[in-house]
Amino acid sequence: MGRRILVVEDDDGIALPLLRTLDREGYEVERVAEGGAALERAGADVDLIVLDLGLPDMDGLDVCRRLREQDFTGGIVILTARDGELDRVVGLDVGADDYIAKPFALAELLARLRALLRRAGSAPASAPREPADARSPLTVDTAARRALAGGRELPLSTKEFDLLAQLDAHRGAVVTREHLMDEVWDENWFGSTKTLDVTMARLRQKLDEAGAQVRITTLRGVGFRLDEGTADA
Ligand code: CA
Repeated sequence: MGRRILVVEDDDGIALPLLRTLDREGYEVERVAEGGAALERAGADVDLIVLDLGLPDMDGLDVCRRLREQDFTGGIVILTARDGELDRVVGLDVGADDYIAKPFALAELLARLRALLRRAGSAPASAPREPADARSPLTVDTAARRALAGGRELPLSTKEFDLLAQLDAHRGAVVTREHLMDEVWDENWFGSTKTLDVTMARLRQKLDEAGAQVRITTLRGVGFRLDEGTADA
């Protein structure tokens, strides 16, 4: 069965060639033209969402935030109008996994989608969200692509999981920013590592919410380290 991609884009000039290309590549594709429709359609059977920011009914950034609030754990790639806007958008924490500025080459977009989907397993069941009473050891199961704290699965996005898996594989040791960018974002990154900081912030928050008994220390200009324990770093 093909992976299912939901394209959220009101502009036919962008949506139609994209849909044709994705279909030709063997993906199951669907398209909606409005943010509200995207929020209704997004579910566990959708592997990835390509999300335009300029939608007629809602700001795409709000759509992205709300997708994560409703526990959509598939990939989200945001399409932005210009590079200037891209910088601003990446700095906001809305829960996207990747960003691409228009006009984009279809080949580049495809490469990014492929990279995201390759890492995404089947969508994890969403975990109950009530706060944990006690701090619990963290278990990262890369085969099943699940991270558990206190027997509960963390609702991580693809990139958040990949980041955690990299840190966990080197628990107690420093992992450099370059290594994380290469491993988690492939070679398709262009110097800016803002997306790493944004994803890291989200990961920390989720670990904290889940009561996971670990902490991530930032080594300024070098990288990050995952340690046991919960003392504030
Ligand atoms: Ca638009």
